[in-house]
Amino acid sequence: MMQQFLRVKAEHPDKLVFYRMGDFYELFYDDAARAAPLLDITLTSRGHSAGAPIPMAGVPYHAVEQYLAKLIRNGESVAICEQIGDPATSKGPMERKVTRIVTPGTVTDAGLLDAKRDCILVSVHAAGARAGVASLNLAGGQLRICDLPLAELGSLLERLDPSEILHAEGQVPPPHRSDAAASPLQPWQFDVDAAKRRLCAHFGTHDLAGFGADDAPLGVAAAGALLQYAQATQQASLAHVATLVVEHIGDHLALDSATRRNLEVTETLRGERSPTLLSLLDDCGTPAGSRMLRYWLTYPLRARDNALARHAALAELAAAPQVCRRLAEALRHTVDVERIASRIALGTARPRDLSGLRDTLARIQAIAGTVAGAEADLLRDCAAALDIEPRWLDLLTRAIRAEPAAAIRDGNVIADGYDAELDELRTIHDNGGAFLVTLEARERTRTGIPNLKVEYNRVHGFYIEVGNAHVEKIPVDFRRRQTLKNAERYITPELKAFEDKALSAQERALSRDRKLFDDLLSSFAPAIPELQRAAKAMANLDVLASHAVMAGARRWTQPTFTGAPGLRIREGRHPVVETQVEHFIPNDLDLAPERRLLIVTGPNMGGKSTYMRQAAVIALLAHCGLFVPAAEACIGPLDAIYTRIGAADDLAGGRSTFMVEMTEAAYILNRATPQSLVLIDEIGRGTSTFDGLALAWAIARELASHNRSLTLFATHYFELTALPSELEGCANAHFDAVQHKDGIVFLHAVEDGPANQSYGLDVAKLAGVPAEAIRKARAYLARLDQFSIRRDFQGDLFVGSPPREDAPRADSAVPDRLAALDPDALSPRDAHAALYELKRLADTPASTGMTGRKA
Ligand code: ADP
Repeated sequence: MMQQFLRVKAEHPDKLVFYRMGDFYELFYDDAARAAPLLDITLTSRGHSAGAPIPMAGVPYHAVEQYLAKLIRNGESVAICEQIGDPATSKGPMERKVTRIVTPGTVTDAGLLDAKRDCILVSVHAAGARAGVASLNLAGGQLRICDLPLAELGSLLERLDPSEILHAEGQVPPPHRSDAAASPLQPWQFDVDAAKRRLCAHFGTHDLAGFGADDAPLGVAAAGALLQYAQATQQASLAHVATLVVEHIGDHLALDSATRRNLEVTETLRGERSPTLLSLLDDCGTPAGSRMLRYWLTYPLRARDNALARHAALAELAAAPQVCRRLAEALRHTVDVERIASRIALGTARPRDLSGLRDTLARIQAIAGTVAGAEADLLRDCAAALDIEPRWLDLLTRAIRAEPAAAIRDGNVIADGYDAELDELRTIHDNGGAFLVTLEARERTRTGIPNLKVEYNRVHGFYIEVGNAHVEKIPVDFRRRQTLKNAERYITPELKAFEDKALSAQERALSRDRKLFDDLLSSFAPAIPELQRAAKAMANLDVLASHAVMAGARRWTQPTFTGAPGLRIREGRHPVVETQVEHFIPNDLDLAPERRLLIVTGPNMGGKSTYMRQAAVIALLAHCGLFVPAAEACIGPLDAIYTRIGAADDLAGGRSTFMVEMTEAAYILNRATPQSLVLIDEIGRGTSTFDGLALAWAIARELASHNRSLTLFATHYFELTALPSELEGCANAHFDAVQHKDGIVFLHAVEDGPANQSYGLDVAKLAGVPAEAIRKARAYLARLDQFSIRRDFQGDLFVGSPPREDAPRADSAVPDRLAALDPDALSPRDAHAALYELKRLADTPASTGMTGRKA
């Protein structure tokens, strides 16, 4: 047996081998040592090898799914080795074979999958400065490839959020934040020509041109390796993976990983599942709907037709609440057709998958009927996709019992009347009951033993039980089967003959049941594409109907797309923050080429980042085809959303706060275009004040004049508010607070122009910094203000903004009125006023008649 085990193990060195022995799956040697702590099971030993005990751990076969789920969550892969020989006929160790391989990225079992989340297997093939990526959702049957610059790989992987990543051995596993398991493959498995042949064979095509895959050779190579791996784990051809989608990096609104995190699309900044945009929006009645919504949110499309089609469908549904209600009610009773279709194709569907599918198919016409007469194309397309050939429902109705057993091994799956042979075997078995009753009555009369019983158990089969008081009455043809304390058990030739017939009938009925079930799965192959289409339509309807209801309840509106660049929002709200505060103040936003950079100032806690994020969230939702939390939103062409928000140390990545800040800033400056929306929040905090100020100033300038992106730039450097006076296309906006008695009240309403006070100390007080510390800080602040004013009077004209390269210097020609001012005697505010006056004079030499150095 150990030899057999070691042979199996040698074929699956990197997987845990679950070796079936009777009612247990056993693990041996290192597998046992590795799995025992992960599964919290006892590590024991069995027998010896070379004098040392063999470590062993085991799990009961009927509970194996829960153990598999745990291992997969820990990134382990498992090879399941079953007994396939017949224990009655085989000599020596029973024949065994690996019948199933479970890896984190290839699970399709309902028990192992997260119902609301796709499980994605990814394969990456990097060469030079480019990378090919293939991704497979095995439980849904979608295969996608992409050929992209290596620098974009991180964002794509973050978007895909895979459970397992395949890469060539020796190649560094690609960078990714998730805890996906990395599975190395042999480098030759990524050969492009072999991959082409494999894919063509799989899809039954002559070449891959029809999929548009010719310009994505690296993606094809990655897909070849991926398909081979997935086929090997399933030991099946994956017929339900029927097409190859080639994606291009520009198809989607670019959202880099930092932005996805900052906007908390599917995960909060702390990595939690709520509150996020997804958790807020997910009112879907079916898991497939939730998965579809996640997909919409993760892949906002740049091309607007898709989003527009969704908007139109939503508008129609929002005006028809009773249709939404009927849809929701009907969909609630449907099963996960997408995943069941995959399991049918893989031959792993269970009896209740089919009975569930039958019950869903019986409702599908009613679902289609709710939207068949709709105006919106998308709704009508969904109705059309739900038109499934009636023969499939008919077949399932005839073939499957109303409530079949959970596992095919328990029999009772195929309906009576479907198969004559099965019916006959069942009759023999079922009529046994009547026969036994008659037999028992007959034997009682014959023997005169009133409490004689005919019974059955799994170990001893059928027997006649007689209490000890009556043993002397037993006839000669009774042969003893078993002796108990108070009774004896017997068998008679008649009962034995019946037993042989009944047991074999039951066994044959079970195997006939299984065969018919397997045949049924195979005969469903032609239905798979139809089922996949219908599943997608139902998921779309679920998202649309639930979103239409939610949008109505929360006063969200249909956004409009315009050809003119810009972003105009009236009474915008932040959907998540809105649910967390008592009274949310809506705010307007107007960004356009002539007003493309907005410097946003105001006190901490004033609402700056909420304001900026809500702009991005509204733009994002619109591109996902959803309604937006605003009274009105007009959105011009957009290619990307970039954000640089918050400052967190990337301890794991070994980068300081400042390094993270600058890396993100560099990323944006190198990519953002006039059609990008850029949010910068508090850049330059990670370094000394003057460095920070200088960098923030330079970055803002660069964005406005070089990238020319639509930018919201929140800053605590008050000096930046001078930028609009010297740079075309910039404007100031601010948030205010008012001092009220001892405290401060934030108004949360955006206003034009720069903020005039920082309120830092008030916020500190609000946060509980002791009064004495606040008092000292106030005194120190006063000293600092005076100091900086004097220095500024003596040095360059600096307050307001750092000097431009060609800025005139204030040497001597300061108007007398200003020169006569005594800095030490001025209040900080008057001093600032004086400085601005000076600066304006210097910046507009024509108006004063002063030029160059003289000014
Ligand atoms: P800042 O970025 O200026 O420090 P935030 O945008 O983080 O401020 O907002 C701080 C808090 O103020 C938020 O957590 C929220 O509770 C509240 N807030 C922000 N904007 C609004 C608003 N428009 N209406 C009501 N409350 C708001």
